[in-house]
Amino acid sequence: MTALRDRDSHRPVVLGAGVAGLAAAAALLSHFDEVLVVERDALDGGARARPGVPQSGQLHNLLGRAQLDLDRLLPGYCDVLVGAGGCRARVSEQTHVYELGMRMPERDLGWHLMSAPRPLIENVLRAMVVDDGRVTFLTGRAVGVRRDGDCITGIDVETSSGRGMLGAELVVDATGSGSQATSWLRAAGWDVPRVDSDAVTHWYVTAAFGRPDDWRGRDDFWLVFPTYPGTRGGLVSPEARDVWRVSVSGSVDDPPPRTPAELVAYAASLESGMIADVLERARPLGPATLFRKPTATWRRYDEMDHPLAGFLPIGDAVASLDPLFGQGIAVAVWQATILADLLRAGLGSPSQFTETYVRRSAGACESAWSLGRMVNAAPEGLARSVGSDPAVHRAYVAAWHLFESVADPVPAVAR
Ligand SMILES: Cc1cc2nc3c(=O)[nH]c(=O)nc-3n(C[C@H](O)[C@H](O)[C@H](O)COP(=O)(O)OP(=O)(O)OC[C@H]3O[C@@H](n4cnc5c(N)ncnc54)[C@H](O)[C@@H]3O)c2cc1C
Repeated sequence: MTALRDRDSHRPVVLGAGVAGLAAAAALLSHFDEVLVVERDALDGGARARPGVPQSGQLHNLLGRAQLDLDRLLPGYCDVLVGAGGCRARVSEQTHVYELGMRMPERDLGWHLMSAPRPLIENVLRAMVVDDGRVTFLTGRAVGVRRDGDCITGIDVETSSGRGMLGAELVVDATGSGSQATSWLRAAGWDVPRVDSDAVTHWYVTAAFGRPDDWRGRDDFWLVFPTYPGTRGGLVSPEARDVWRVSVSGSVDDPPPRTPAELVAYAASLESGMIADVLERARPLGPATLFRKPTATWRRYDEMDHPLAGFLPIGDAVASLDPLFGQGIAVAVWQATILADLLRAGLGSPSQFTETYVRRSAGACESAWSLGRMVNAAPEGLARSVGSDPAVHRAYVAAWHLFESVADPVPAVAR
C-alpha cells in the first residue's frame, strides 16, 4: 500500500458544497495545494435557498463550538458573518432560556450564540474558501466510488456533458443526510457502516416576524425547551436588525400551526410565556413553513473493521441529528478541524489516516447524539444546582455548546 501522496500531489475531492463540504475544503487547503468540490446544485454566488439543502429556510443558530472551529479554519469568519447580517448575543445574558422547568440564570458566561439564515452562513463560508483561490467547483452529481484493493481511486460523476470518472485518492463525502455512500460502497464490493437511528417525534414550524421599534438592532434570543416528557418548545432568533425568526416544535400527535397567527397562539401554550410576550407586538412577515424530520441517523463508519482508505465522510453524511439542539453545523465543522489537525500531524498510510479520522470524528457525533439523553434524563437537583452554582451552570451550558463532554455537568451535580 502506498502512502497518501503529499503536498503538491494529487488533488483531493470534496462531494457536496454545503457547510460540511466547504469546511472540509478549508481543512484540506491547510495541506494540499488544490481542492476540487463537486456539487449537484449550480452555485451562483448568492445567499439563496437551493434545492440541495431543503432545510435552508429553517432557523439556524451557531453554537459556541461552531464559532470557535469556523474561526480556526477560516480566521475572522464570525466577524465577517456579523458584517454580512449575522447576529451575535452573549450567552446567557442575552439568551433568555426556559429549561429544566425553570427560567435559567442570565449570567454572562463568556460565549456567544449566533444566528443567520442558513444560506448566509454557507455563502460567507463559500466566499472565504473561494477567495483562497485554490478551490475549483464542478457542477455534477457523484454517483459512485472506485477502488483498487482497500484504497479509493476515484469517483463517478454525472455532469451536463455526461458521465465520467474523476481520479482521487482522498474523497470527502459531504453530501448530507441523503448520502448514497452506502450504495456506492456496496456496489464497489466494500463493507458498509451499520446505522444507528432514533425516531424524531416532533415537527418544526418557522415564520419571520418584524420586530417592534424598541427591539430593532438588539441581538437577544429566547428559547423555551419542554420539560421531559413535555414536547412543546419554541425559539426566537434575531435576524439582521429588524426581523425575528421564530420556530416552534411539537410532537407528531400535536397538530402543527399552519399560519403565523396559529404559531403565536401555540407559543402561548408553552411552559413559559416569554415567547408569546415577545411576539405580542411583532408583525408577521410571511407564511409559516412546516419541516418534518422523522429520524436522526448516525452511520457508524467508526465501528467498521476496514473503512475504505481515503474515503472520509463528514457532517450530515455521517450523523444527521435531531434539529432540536441546533448542533449539525457545530459537529460538521468540528470534524473538519479534526481533519485539519490530522493532516498537519502527517498522513501515514491511507488506511491508518482514514481509521484515525473516522474514529476521532465519531467523538464529535457522540457528544451531540448524547445531549438529548442528558437533557431528558437530567437528575433531580440539576435545575437547583444550575440556578445556584455558576460552575454547574457553566458546565451545563458548555455541554450544550459542545465545548465539554455531556457527561461532565451531571457528576458535578452529584458531588
Ligand atoms: C429544521 C432544521 C433546523 C436545523 N437547525 C440547525 C441549527 O440551528 N444549527 C445547526 O448547527 N444545525 C441545524 N440544523 C442542521 C444543519 O442544517 C445541518 O447539520 C447542516 O446544514 C449539514 O450540512 P452538510 O453540509 O453536512 O449537509 P447539507 O447542508 O445537506 O449539504 C449537502 C450538500 O451536498 C450536495 N449533494 C448531495 N448529494 C450530492 C451528490 N450526489 N453529488 C454532489 N453533491 C451532492 C447537496 O446539494 C448539498 O449542497 C438544522 C436542520 C434542520 C432539518
